Amino acid sequence: MSEPTPPCPECKSIYAYEDREQLVCPECGHEWVPGEASEEQDILIVKDANGNRLQDGDFVTLIKDLKVKGSSSVAKVGTKVKINRLVEGDHDIDCKIEGIGPMMLKSEFVKKA
Ligand SMILES: [Zn+2]
Repeated sequence: MSEPTPPCPECKSIYAYEDREQLVCPECGHEWVPGEASEEQDILIVKDANGNRLQDGDFVTLIKDLKVKGSSSVAKVGTKVKINRLVEGDHDIDCKIEGIGPMMLKSEFVKKA
């Protein structure tokens, strides 16, 4: 016996049926993979210079001197930084550096402390 078929996430039709690995909705034509919750697609994977996965709240150290935008300060190699949160984009680490302030960093210039 198979599990009861979940309703279509698009139109809520209860007539969705299984087609191999997929579920197909005959009413709106939507196809999806069961168990693939949409929120899982929002999980952001950010890796440091060594390929280790980073998470909010992790400590990292800089592997390169980084000029701080709009000031003459430089964040030096080896500076320990706490990740506030990971974000999408080119500069994917939102953090605060002691003595410098809030900053956005590129994950390729840090490694997990
Ligand atoms: Zn549907």
